[in-house]
Amino acid sequence: MNLLITGGCGFIGSNLIRRIIDAPEITKLVNLDCLTYAGHPENVEDVAAHPKYSFEKIDLRDAPAVKDVIARHSTTHVMHLAAESHVDRSIGGPGDFISTNIVGTFNLLEACRASWLKHPTGKGSTGDSPVTPGVPASESKGEVSNAHPCPPPQLSTINSQPPYRFLHVSTDEVYGSLGPTGYFTETTAYAPNSPYSASKASSDMLVRAYHHTYGLPTLITNCSNNYGPYQFPEKLIPVVVQSLLARKPIPVYGDGMNVRDWLYVQDHADALWKVLREGKNGETYNIGGHNEWPNLRIVELICDLVDEFKPGLGGPSRSLITFVKDRLGHDRRYAIDASKMRDELGWTPAYTFERGIRETVRWYLENQGWSARVTRAK
Ligand code: NAD
Repeated sequence: MNLLITGGCGFIGSNLIRRIIDAPEITKLVNLDCLTYAGHPENVEDVAAHPKYSFEKIDLRDAPAVKDVIARHSTTHVMHLAAESHVDRSIGGPGDFISTNIVGTFNLLEACRASWLKHPTGKGSTGDSPVTPGVPASESKGEVSNAHPCPPPQLSTINSQPPYRFLHVSTDEVYGSLGPTGYFTETTAYAPNSPYSASKASSDMLVRAYHHTYGLPTLITNCSNNYGPYQFPEKLIPVVVQSLLARKPIPVYGDGMNVRDWLYVQDHADALWKVLREGKNGETYNIGGHNEWPNLRIVELICDLVDEFKPGLGGPSRSLITFVKDRLGHDRRYAIDASKMRDELGWTPAYTFERGIRETVRWYLENQGWSARVTRAK
C-alpha cells in the first residue's frame, strides 16, 4: 500500500509511524504535516532516513496541494490524524479548529474522491452512469485491476476488494458527557460540547457522508484519551511532570473528579493499524482502554512516580496540587465500550496502565531536552 498519514509529526501520528513503518504491507509511507506548534520533525527523527518514508510539509487547508500530494504518491490508503487537538485552545480561539478539522478533512476527502473514484462527480462522463470506484493510476496501466465495473457502489462490492481505504481518526469527545454509569458505544448519539469536539464531530459526519454518497471506502475510529511519549507539553500528563520538576503548582480543574478513559498510545496505534486493514468500510469503531481515572487520581499517581524516580526534589510532590477554576463546559465523564474492536477485530490493549504510566513518566523525565525544545520552538 502507498500510505499517507496526516499529522505524523504530532503525538499519536509520530508513535503510529514508528510502530508500523516496517510492516511488509507498506510500500511507501508519506507523512503530511504543516508543523503547527504541536508538530515537530524531531518526533519522527528516527524514521526520517527510512527508505519507505517521505515528508510533505503541506497544510490541509491548501486544497490544490492536498489534491496534488494524494495523486503524486499514487496514494491507496490514508490515515487521517492531523487536527487541532487541544480543547482549551478551541475555547480561546475556535477558528483554526473549524478550518483545519472541518475544511481540512473536506479537502482530503475531495482529493481522495478525485483520485480514487472513476467518476468522482457521481456521474459518468456522459452524465448518466453511476459513480464507480476507480483504480490507482499505477494499477490501471498494469494487469492488476480492482475496479468494479458499472453497478453503483454497493458496500458489499467495495468491501470484498478494498483497493483503497480512508481511515479517519476521531475522538470519544464527540459523544458528549456521561453520568456516573454507562459507556459510549458506536451507536451513541453525538452531543459535542466544545468547539474542538464539535469540529471533530463535523468531520466525522463528512466522512460518513462521503461513504454513503460517493461510496468512498471510509472507516472512522473514536478513541479515548491517549498517553505516552511525544505528547506536546500542554496536555495533562506532560504538564504535570513539567510543573513538578519546576516545583510549580499543578493546576487541577474544578474538583478534579472529571473522569477520562486512558489508553497507551502504542495500543491506539495497533488498533488503528488493525482497523485500516481489517475493518469494514463504512463502519465506526470505538477504541478505549477500559481504564477510567478521575483527573485528580492521575495527578496524584504522577506525583508519586516522580517522587519515586527523582527523590530529593524537595518534599512530597502532592503538596503542589492546586485546584483552579473549572474549564468552560467541562465534560464530566467519558468511557468507551470497545467490545466491537474486541469481538470483530480481536483487538484489546496490550499495555496495563501500571506499566504504561510508569514508562511514560520515566520518558518525560529522561527527555527534558525534548520538552524544552518543542516548547521553545513555537
Ligand atoms: P497533536 O496535536 O499532537 O498533533 C496534530 C498534528 O497535526 C501536528 O503534527 C500538527 O502539525 C498537524 N496539523 C495540525 N493542523 C494541520 C493542518 N492544517 N495541516 C496539516 N497538518 C496539521 O494531536 P494528537 O494528540 O496526536 O491527535 C491526533 C488525532 O487523534 C487528532 O485527530 C485527534 O482528534 C485524535 N485523537 C486524539 C486523542 C488524544 O488523546 N490525543 C484521543 C482521541 C483522538
